[in-house]
Amino acid sequence: MILLNAFKILGKLHFFIFILMLLSVTLNCKKNKDKIDSQWDDFFEFRKGDIPLIIVAPHGGDLKPNWIENRDCDGSVITKDLYTLDIAFQIENELVKMGYKPFIVFAKIHRIKLDLNRSLKTSHCEDDTSNELWQLFHDQIFTFRQEIIKNYDRGLLIDIHGHGHPIQRIELGYLLDSEKLNKLSRDESSIQHGETSINSLIENHPENKQLGDLIFGDNALGSLLSKNGFPTVPSSIERAPKYNEPFFSGGTNTKNYGSKYQSGVDAIQLELNRSGLRQDIEDRERFSKIFAKILIEYMKFHYSDIFPSN
Ligand SMILES: [Zn+2]
Repeated sequence: MILLNAFKILGKLHFFIFILMLLSVTLNCKKNKDKIDSQWDDFFEFRKGDIPLIIVAPHGGDLKPNWIENRDCDGSVITKDLYTLDIAFQIENELVKMGYKPFIVFAKIHRIKLDLNRSLKTSHCEDDTSNELWQLFHDQIFTFRQEIIKNYDRGLLIDIHGHGHPIQRIELGYLLDSEKLNKLSRDESSIQHGETSINSLIENHPENKQLGDLIFGDNALGSLLSKNGFPTVPSSIERAPKYNEPFFSGGTNTKNYGSKYQSGVDAIQLELNRSGLRQDIEDRERFSKIFAKILIEYMKFHYSDIFPSN
């Protein structure tokens, strides 16, 4: 009798586990089906270019698929870099109008779902569902980077972001933090160019320009931006952030795809301020037009040995 009751209980337990398993399979199927129904392509914009320039925009997307968990673990920044995707598209358009096609890798997924300027492990909060998306995005940058090295030997990657710091100026990230920029500003031979994400550029510079010239000189990217009405640090005008002023010196993409750790493609992180640049449509248009021109001027000067003449 006791044995019979035990079998009955075991039977009920098995049935209960079976229902749980069925429920779990059904839920997973639903999740996968939603995932398959959404095209991966919807989350990105990739285009091959015809000049040695890659433009990356990882934080400007809006898409929030419900099959990817929101990022809510400690240290997760979940706000998008407002209007940076719009600006990235406009810069591409302006370059195309001038006769140049950059390689582009833009994300349309919202940062609350996936941070594409982080390592795979820290791009989400333990929800592996987005791993494939992360991989596709970074494989594409890697492939374009290799293609540029194959065709031109060297090239440049610009990683576009937007910052919320109180001082309304563009911040350029060469992997030199505020302390190093201040040191370099005082003594231009105090920092080795091997510490920067533009190491290859300086090693191969057609005019033999040095690190100080590339960061503070008249033809430095920051100086060209400042001269054209977009205050920038570092530049000839503002060489380094002051003590305690917040400053972004370059994130994972600048580290992984620039030339500090491998030669070939250089990288510069572009952190755009909000007021006077990202906020209003007229400013976004004005900036995109001017920046496209600056980019070509910059490449024609600093990469004259590899930049296609047309
Ligand atoms: Zn960002």
